[in-house]
Amino acid sequence: MKCWFCEEDARAVCSFCGRGVCRDHASKMSKFVGMFLGGNDTPKGLAVADVIWCGECQPQPEPIPMPELF
Ligand SMILES: [Zn+2]
Ligand SMILES: [Zn+2]
Repeated sequence: MKCWFCEEDARAVCSFCGRGVCRDHASKMSKFVGMFLGGNDTPKGLAVADVIWCGECQPQPEPIPMPELF
């Protein structure tokens, strides 16, 4: 697979959209994975830091409303 942006071989794949990116074009972003209940019933968010991001797509922090489906 080639990088989405150039002709280099892809070194990683965007965690959000699946585009391949070379080392020069890969960006990093924290990825919100889910919620869980911690001690004292405090809701906590579980995030993975430094996932690969192509820098091109726009991951949404929350589900996008799709009113046209209803
Ligand atoms: Zn590239
Ligand atoms: Zn992407």
